[in-house]
Amino acid sequence: MIFKQLFDKKSSTYTYIISSGKGREALIIDPVIEHTEKYLNLLKELDLKLVKVIDTHIHADHISGLNELAKQTSCSKIMGERSTSEVLDIKVKDNEKIKIENIELKSIYTPGHTDCSYSFFMNDRVFTGDTLLINGTGRTDFQNGSSYDAYDSLFKKLLKLPEKTLVYPAHDYNGKTHSTIENEKNNNPRLQVKSAEEYADVMSNLKLSNPKMMDIAVPANKKGITLQDLENR
Ligand code: FE
Repeated sequence: MIFKQLFDKKSSTYTYIISSGKGREALIIDPVIEHTEKYLNLLKELDLKLVKVIDTHIHADHISGLNELAKQTSCSKIMGERSTSEVLDIKVKDNEKIKIENIELKSIYTPGHTDCSYSFFMNDRVFTGDTLLINGTGRTDFQNGSSYDAYDSLFKKLLKLPEKTLVYPAHDYNGKTHSTIENEKNNNPRLQVKSAEEYADVMSNLKLSNPKMMDIAVPANKKGITLQDLENR
């Protein structure tokens, strides 16, 4: 299997390129528009054909590369069915399969950080978006976020996955690349709560400022802008 984890320093975003092997189909999860060229070069180098691009949710801290990648490769743009993006080709339901050659992902609806947040499970690993981070969890104070929904997504869905499952989040701010469900269950400070009420209490006391890019990124990601649109601004 080909599995590449790429990092955007500006937004601390992780992007994933997945394929069953050289010369085969590929998919990308959570691309950042500024790195489009880098992704395309890497795909070319590995002789991969990009057929699907997925965003885990509408991002507030960077502009997604989903639309630009689709423009340049004709790959399908995919998000969960609760997404308000106007440019999607496929909206997946909870528990629906996304397939490319020899690779299968299963969507898991994990609202809380936003109401359009989905995680994607693949064999031994799960892409958790901003629902579950390494030693943290996604904030729940905008984009129809809900700490109660987040609690259910975490405790009733993600933490119920096999303990050895590798966790690949959409961000990390401390240089960590991945974790496991077991490790997060035991050590993630946000997950050491006894009830949804306690979790909501922790989350409401975070007092975070809004992401710098929020007012630009959220509308751009709903509309699905391209590099050309960015240049013309
Ligand atoms: Fe987010």
